[in-house]
Amino acid sequence: MLAGLEGMASGLEEMLSSVQPALLHPIDAVKLLEAATCVEQRAGALKTLLAARAAEAGEWRRLGYRSPEEWLAQQSGCGWGQAAGTLNASEKLADLPALDDAVRKGELSAPKLLELAKTATPDNAKKLVESSKTQSYRQVKRACQTERARARSEDQDEARNRRIHDERSLRTWTDAEGWHCEIRNTPAAGARIEAAVFAAADAIFKEAYAAGRRESMAAYRVDALERLVCGGGAGVDTTVVIRVDESRLRDAGGTCETTTTGPVPASEAIGAILAGAFVKVVAHDGTEVTRVAHHGRHVPAEVRTAILERDGHRCVRPDCGSATNLELHHYRMDHAQGGPVAVWNLCCLCRHCHHLVTHGGHRLEGGPGNWTWIPPPP
Ligand SMILES: [Zn+2]
Repeated sequence: MLAGLEGMASGLEEMLSSVQPALLHPIDAVKLLEAATCVEQRAGALKTLLAARAAEAGEWRRLGYRSPEEWLAQQSGCGWGQAAGTLNASEKLADLPALDDAVRKGELSAPKLLELAKTATPDNAKKLVESSKTQSYRQVKRACQTERARARSEDQDEARNRRIHDERSLRTWTDAEGWHCEIRNTPAAGARIEAAVFAAADAIFKEAYAAGRRESMAAYRVDALERLVCGGGAGVDTTVVIRVDESRLRDAGGTCETTTTGPVPASEAIGAILAGAFVKVVAHDGTEVTRVAHHGRHVPAEVRTAILERDGHRCVRPDCGSATNLELHHYRMDHAQGGPVAVWNLCCLCRHCHHLVTHGGHRLEGGPGNWTWIPPPP
């Protein structure tokens, strides 16, 4: 097979050195283009079939590459992402006969194949491959995105977040166009980084504006990143806002997302609250922002009023209902653990009942409208 391929390569070289596009009849050029595409597609398919097995040889390590992806990218003269896609496709072919079959028949262009390999599972491969044959690359890409979105919603949030965390990466490379950097991380981590960079960029923009300089925000963000990483970034406000439905914090449905980078698991929001200062949690019903969580001991007057109103200015313990000596109790996340001062985390208890919960082993469960009081076991 090697000799065959080498023969084809030298045949192609010969054609390349002799072809005179300007002398061709345009219709002939069309036919040649079609035939060349056919060769390209099949050569790509062959590469995909071989890639995973070739990576096993460990040749990449001997040659001093850090990963099979880096080696393949160098070999093929393509980017890291494309090399990773090819290896991923190569590994998946064994489990996806429908895709394997289409690859062997040369029915898929390389970009289509990479999309399909990212998306196909034993359940959907046949359907996706079938429809991809008549679709443009754009259509295939959209179909794959839809399919992946469907899989994601079935996929548990937590599991997905853990996977993204496990796969987090920062890669840099330098070429004639300069230094490049690509980062992948969970939306929550991304939001923290973005908040810091964007805030610093804003400060840099103001400095530049005052000095009469005008450059793009994208340029200022790079300066901001450099300043933050290499020092001189102090004093920047890097608050991250996580918007979360109250229902979500109680393990019921609802959204939980950063305002800029997308969905995060509820545990991440709670963890962020517990971790302290950099997060502001905004509870909302649907699209309307209704309550802001603050940190620290101080209960803003409007939050206090909202809770008193909701709880009818009475102790929420069902068999108490006292209207005197009312105190605010952090019922969902303990104040000692950093539970925030927020309407969704506070309720009214009389001083006596509050003491029983805090020091007497009594428990208050449920929420507004369905409180349950559980005394300690006898
Ligand atoms: Zn009470």
